Amino acid sequence: MTETIVVIKGDGIGQEVVPAAVEVLEAVADFEFVEREAGDYVRDEQGDPLPEDTYETVRNADATLFGAVGETAADVVLPLREAVDSFANVRPARAYPGVDALRPETDIVFIRENTQGVYSGIESRITDDVTTLTRVITEDASRKIAEFGFEYADANGYDDVTIAHKQNVMRLTDGVFVDAARAVGDERGVDYDEKLMDALGMLLLLEPEEYGVVICPNLAGDVLSDVAAGLVGGLGLLPSANVGADNGMFEPVHGTAPDIAGEGIANPSAAVLSAAMLLEHFGYEETAGSVRTAVEGVLSDGPTTPDLGGSATTDDVAAAIVDRL
Ligand code: ATP
Repeated sequence: MTETIVVIKGDGIGQEVVPAAVEVLEAVADFEFVEREAGDYVRDEQGDPLPEDTYETVRNADATLFGAVGETAADVVLPLREAVDSFANVRPARAYPGVDALRPETDIVFIRENTQGVYSGIESRITDDVTTLTRVITEDASRKIAEFGFEYADANGYDDVTIAHKQNVMRLTDGVFVDAARAVGDERGVDYDEKLMDALGMLLLLEPEEYGVVICPNLAGDVLSDVAAGLVGGLGLLPSANVGADNGMFEPVHGTAPDIAGEGIANPSAAVLSAAMLLEHFGYEETAGSVRTAVEGVLSDGPTTPDLGGSATTDDVAAAIVDRL
């Protein structure tokens, strides 16, 4: 069967790194690619940043490879994650040999709840002066993400599982989250650790080697994975997978990087590693492994883009990865 992959470049460096990832996928797999549009430029041209056709195509495809969108992120990324029925956002932060990482011993995978928390989108203006946001946490969704996280740790050989929360302040909502996660850990009979999410931000910097899989509520996962990006050499290196039951959307953790957009120097590694996660999602473990090995080889021996101290372009790096494959 030929899987159908929707390709959405979006804004800024999404336009540059996604074609690099597609070039790599074309070199190793036989997918049918369907390109669709979304983002700020689509809003400016057509009025709607996420045309119905894009949403429906993503919903009905086997998977989506996504770049980044700017101001319209909440109008594009959140509905698309919902379109692929994604409850888990998997964000591995790994240091690679040859990359000048702040903490080379880092190998942490953030398992971020993808549907609830403060990203539920329920905001109200009460008066001109007062606004509110509703933080939704359900036991069902918390159990689901915890089960996914513990299973991921087991399947991928991570011994350390940490539950991140802020139950001491958000007593009810994070109370539900942490109780559900504890119950899953206890039922599985495995050890786990719990950390307040703010303290964890500091601990990740001081002792990253103590952490393996971190199960987080939505916002905490977003913030802590960016912290970890700083440990391993920058946002150009972090891929992510939005996992659903039988669909998925794969995207670099970084955004549109307006400061370097259009210059052709964005690091495509995060997008290519996201493509490797897409291959894994379909069960092409071996091919995913070769893509990762090729990326690691290029990160170690060059060429590299300016964020990693080199002077190569996005296309140079993509070509070097394809060469190795
Ligand atoms: P957005 O508003 O879309 O989130 P941003 O600039 O606030 O954009 P990111 O796009 O995530 O946030 O990037 C933060 C910084 O990290 C960028 O300014 C850029 O310098 C760097 N960066 C991010 N991704 C890459 C990449 N792929 N290659 C090189 N540098 C990158």
